[in-house]
Amino acid sequence: MRSEWLLAGGTAGAAMGWASWAVRGRSSQVFGRSVWRGPGGRARLALTFDDGPSHWTAPLLDLLGEWGAKASFFQIGEAARRLPELARRVSDEGHEIGNHTLSHPALYAKTPSGVYGEVAGCQRVLEEIHGCVPRWFRAPYGCRWFGLGRAQRELGLTGVMWSCLGLDWKQPASAVARRVTAAAENGAIICLHDGRAGRPGADCRSTVDAVRLILPALRDRHFELVTVSEVLA
Ligand SMILES: [Zn+2]
Repeated sequence: MRSEWLLAGGTAGAAMGWASWAVRGRSSQVFGRSVWRGPGGRARLALTFDDGPSHWTAPLLDLLGEWGAKASFFQIGEAARRLPELARRVSDEGHEIGNHTLSHPALYAKTPSGVYGEVAGCQRVLEEIHGCVPRWFRAPYGCRWFGLGRAQRELGLTGVMWSCLGLDWKQPASAVARRVTAAAENGAIICLHDGRAGRPGADCRSTVDAVRLILPALRDRHFELVTVSEVLA
């Protein structure tokens, strides 16, 4: 009897592990097509910024411009609608725009049609502001869910996860910079944040200070900083 319980417990544990990977695993394709890194043939990597725009986007753009770096910004529709000029400055300066939903919910709290509404609503706002249709999608909190695969297919989007999560929302700049530079490799996709889950007024100083350390360190190692489209090409 005891061994049957252990076996049942083990099976349930394995199923939970699979479910957690399906939702959050960087290589999972269960809830829609998704990529998490590019090919390793060239010394280039992609910095990505989620949750903007916010007032911290401007100093980040200044830094990227200073170092001739390009990046991809996964904007929240409602944040872009609040700060349309700042949102547009990102694409005007040659950076790539991706979809990070309309209001940044955890998608597992949504029905499939709710998921579709979040993705399609963001797509509409970003198209209006930037005049082009995003082709990359990043799920809030990295959580994919039922309905996302269909939404991505119908809206022409591919999911983008990451090879390195910078933890810039909770760690000091020096730790974030150490983490990112340690994970830098050909084809890497690095996830940072120029907002904090769409909260107006949130403090993103650690991200800006980390990027100030990261850019020269990666340049010293001869990495070219490119968009997601370029790193995947
Ligand atoms: Zn986010």
